[in-house]
Formats: sequence, C-alpha cells, structure tokens
Amino acid sequence: MHETALLQNLLSAAEEALAPYEVEKVERLTVKAGVLANLLPDALDFAFETLTPGTIFAAAELVVETLPIGARCLGCGAEYEAEKLPAACPMCGGEQAEVLSGTEAYLDNIEFSLKGESQ
Ligand SMILES: [Zn+2]
Repeated sequence: MHETALLQNLLSAAEEALAPYEVEKVERLTVKAGVLANLLPDALDFAFETLTPGTIFAAAELVVETLPIGARCLGCGAEYEAEKLPAACPMCGGEQAEVLSGTEAYLDNIEFSLKGESQ
C-alpha cells in the first residue's frame, strides 16, 4: 500500500512544519492529490487511523482534495485539464497528450490549535 508510505511522509512534513509551535492538537490536514497519484481514499483513511494514534494528529480530520490531470495536446499544443486519460483535446479533439501534472500529492494546509489558546 503506497498510501501508507505517502501519508507517513506527509505526516513527517507536517510535524516539521509544526515544530516551531506549541501545538495543542491538529484539527485538520488537507492533502491535495492528483488523479494520477492513484490514492485510494479508503486506504488513505486506513493509513491515517493506523499512523496517528498517540500523535498530535490523533484527533485530526484528513481531507483529500483531488486535482485534475493537466495535459498538453501533442496535436495543437493546447493545455487543458482532464479527469482521466485518454481525454480528447477541447481544441482539436486529439487524444495524444503529454501529462504536465496530476501525479503529485502534497500537504496543502494544516489547521491546528495552540496550547493555552482554548478557554
Ligand atoms: Zn489539441
């Protein structure tokens, strides 16, 4: 399951980003993932539940936002977005395209509360 490895990396990055703060708890983690990253939501949820107990992420909600595929038509050079490939170019209808984006997965946002912040 590459979801577990990926999430482990994202959580490490989040921990690093939060290191300078006195974090009480993390409320929400937003991950953006391209369609071509092939992440299964169920596998991600399972990985999250497996990796987070006892950490600052234990009470956090994991939100995954899917990014479309960015493609450039090899026929006419138009750049467009698609939900899946092959897709027809909106300009010329050609199906030959170069993938520009859509395989990435990254941490987009972390919402958290600071110690002593809540009443
Ligand atoms: Zn085209």
